Amino acid sequence: MYGSQYLTEENNTLHIGGVAATDLAAQYGTPLYVMAERELTDRLATVREHFLDKYPNTYASFASKALTVSAVYEQVVRHGLGIDVVTGGELFIARQSGVPAERIYFHGSNKSTADLQYAVEEGVGRIVIDHFAEIAQLESIAAQAGQTVHVLIRIVPQVIGGAHAKIQTGGVDTKFGFSTHASDYLDAIEAILASEHLSLLGIHCHVGSQIQDPSLFEQTARTMMGFVETIRAHHGFTVSEVNVGGGFGIAYTQDDHPLDFEATIARVMDVIETETERLGIERPRIGIEPGRWVVANAGTTLYTVGAIKEIEGVRTYLSVDGGMTDNIRPALYGAVYETVIANRMSGETTEVTVVGAACESGDLVAEKAQLVTPNGGDTLAVFGTGAYNFSMASNYNQFLRPALVFVRDGESREVVRRQTYADLIQCDLGINGVRSES
Ligand SMILES: *Cc1c(COP(=O)(O)O)cnc(C)c1O
Repeated sequence: MYGSQYLTEENNTLHIGGVAATDLAAQYGTPLYVMAERELTDRLATVREHFLDKYPNTYASFASKALTVSAVYEQVVRHGLGIDVVTGGELFIARQSGVPAERIYFHGSNKSTADLQYAVEEGVGRIVIDHFAEIAQLESIAAQAGQTVHVLIRIVPQVIGGAHAKIQTGGVDTKFGFSTHASDYLDAIEAILASEHLSLLGIHCHVGSQIQDPSLFEQTARTMMGFVETIRAHHGFTVSEVNVGGGFGIAYTQDDHPLDFEATIARVMDVIETETERLGIERPRIGIEPGRWVVANAGTTLYTVGAIKEIEGVRTYLSVDGGMTDNIRPALYGAVYETVIANRMSGETTEVTVVGAACESGDLVAEKAQLVTPNGGDTLAVFGTGAYNFSMASNYNQFLRPALVFVRDGESREVVRRQTYADLIQCDLGINGVRSES
């Protein structure tokens, strides 16, 4: 049910990891992010079993932007995966959580000098170069540090994937990576090969997010191996690492077709093996970077139902105590979620538009939701919120960012506490630029 076997119905009440949603709401307050920890660890175990352990010379990085939480990083590392980061901030949290530096891959389309310096200082495993100026920039930072930096370059494979234009990154018209439209990527490789302190290991791509068609991954793998061939022909350089990115799609609603991870990987690795043989090279180290697929379905958000406003002949608005501040995705890209009344899962239903409490008409949670006729004070659950919710949350209107709890086998624990009012003014220094400590 609802994308995870750890979401169940008992006594007409939603249970998450064996705990009643109503108990969680009462204990920790709402809005509340709840992660079914076993859904997370099952998926990490799947990545390990069907990719890392099955194919030698591979690696998997969790795209940490999907859910930037120490407890998640710790589970990721325990299961043998690494971490993708795109800023110094994400790198800081990864290092604080004990992620070994060599398992961290640093991405980003416009990394700051400070961030690159920090990444080199920490000794991250790879830095993924995204544009021309970054080559000289990183060379100079590496030279100053007296270090050799292992790099990949991001190439745009011109495979269009992703459930919405705002999460497509693989076409010609993108801010990410080196174009193959012109011979940009070949020129970049020439410059990197000529750099004294940059050691080029391979190529990277990421074509989009929430991809539901496995053949897109095959197409991407084939295209990347074509680049390996072209690079060898032009530069006599054999790529030793190929990263095919993330984007593995999940089920948000009944209408989605979640990717079968095992089958998709098998198809990708088939293509890689065939192409490797055709080129007569040693198979490069193959990497993947799942983000959403690892965490989305493990997450459920709980809200308390507040105002219910019926506008005769128009619609009924149901307001909850969170919204765009804890889940921007419906407003940002029209994302659709499944919702239920967690404390009364069956009964007569009514169609309502679930909206948030922020001062924006665009603060939408779910349009045309068929809910068991709601009352004020009910607990509303939104499923599939484990990815790009917590990490995209804001303090707009000074809503406090919710707590995040892990639930497993009937037990729950807070892994991120709810913000307090004091957190809201932590950086606000006041008119004299000196905040007095009270
Ligand atoms: C966002 C991102 C990912 C993860 O995407 P998902 O759709 O969450 O799997 C992987 N690699 C890169 C470079 C990304 O930017």
